[in-house]
Amino acid sequence: MKKYDYVMVGSGLFSGVYAYEARKKGKSVLVVEKRDHIGGNVYCEDVEGIHVHKYGAHIFHTSNRKIWDYVNSLCEFNRYTNSPVANYKGETYNLPFNMNTFSKMWGISTPEEAKAIIDEQKKVITGEPKNLEEQAISLVGTDIYEKLVKGYTEKQWGRDCKDLPAFIIKRLPVRFIYDNNYFNDLYQGIPIGGYNVIIDKLFEGCDIETGVDYLENKAHYDELGETIVYTGPIDEYFGYSLGKLEYRTVRFETEVLDKENYQGVAVMNYTDRETPYTRIIEHKHFEFGTQPKTVISKEYSTEWTEGMEPYYPVNDEKNAALYKKYQELGEKEADVVFGGRLAEYKYYDMDKVIESALKAAEAIK
Ligand SMILES: Cc1cc2nc3c(=O)[nH]c(=O)nc-3n(C[C@H](O)[C@H](O)[C@H](O)COP(=O)(O)OP(=O)(O)OC[C@H]3O[C@@H](n4cnc5c(N)ncnc54)[C@H](O)[C@@H]3O)c2cc1C
Repeated sequence: MKKYDYVMVGSGLFSGVYAYEARKKGKSVLVVEKRDHIGGNVYCEDVEGIHVHKYGAHIFHTSNRKIWDYVNSLCEFNRYTNSPVANYKGETYNLPFNMNTFSKMWGISTPEEAKAIIDEQKKVITGEPKNLEEQAISLVGTDIYEKLVKGYTEKQWGRDCKDLPAFIIKRLPVRFIYDNNYFNDLYQGIPIGGYNVIIDKLFEGCDIETGVDYLENKAHYDELGETIVYTGPIDEYFGYSLGKLEYRTVRFETEVLDKENYQGVAVMNYTDRETPYTRIIEHKHFEFGTQPKTVISKEYSTEWTEGMEPYYPVNDEKNAALYKKYQELGEKEADVVFGGRLAEYKYYDMDKVIESALKAAEAIK
């Protein structure tokens, strides 16, 4: 008999949901987290009374009623609706592209007028689009492309749209109604009190060690747990023996400003090429904050190098093939469950990672 039924490596949402389900079944759980706090990427830091999304803005959205009920059983959600604004050289436009955007851009008011302009502008592209620029123009016309797509996309990829392949943009959703709600999902919001409320609830009753890297003390922790639930990077688990998986990342510059309201919206996209950052997040607006100061984070798209936070898996053939080999190695590890965005090398939204942890937790006897 080992001391714990489960040793959870990492303390993000996958680990939290799995631990919560294990505790419900009377299991003992130790959580080992290498950062100095629990919560993984949804962790919020309290700055001037504002919950700052330290690892990037997180907006919960889902159409899955079961998952929505599950998170609401842990914490109440507010009515935040994501309605980002684009800023092109000081001109502001509502996103996603909808009648408010078109009305501001062309001074028109009906869907017929908007459609006629877009259809006319699309005509400049004849034949199969040869690159991302042609693809985008064939979908939304020249004005929206020039002001709202081009610069933003070039900053994201660090290359000209003419040099990017067309397939990157398959669709650019266009709505011919006045509706600034970014998500199409049935439910969305931000946990009242921030994401840490959910995290604290999920890990209630667990023993927790932070500032500890499991892989540096692997034999010790393996001795402590009957089952290991590993949510760190899968290539790192195997000592990068088959090579390194690649990621894309974002760099944040966060500042406290001595003013109550900086930009009047939580998310503003800077869509010109010259502004070096892609977005500014003003954290207080996720929770309708009324604090005297405000905290903003500028987001810079950055090439990932070792030591940086691995945020987005690169979904190309090379990385998919390498992941598959690691997955096969993982299947041979006895008493280890691999789960979450890093161990499965998969982009998961929060609702999807919760769903996947609940599925994995069905195996808990
Ligand atoms: C910038 C960004 C913005 C996002 N915005 C949204 C959004 O708006 N809406 C949405 O639904 N989803 C969003 N997501 C996705 C969301 O963050 C994930 O679904 C979720 O955080 C995944 O949880 P996880 O437990 O799999 O991983 P993580 O939260 O990454 O947790 C893994 C944990 O394991 C720890 N760890 C790793 N290796 C070790 C080790 N060797 N020893 C000990 N600990 C270790 C890490 O420190 C980390 O804390 C966003 C993701 C990013 C990157």
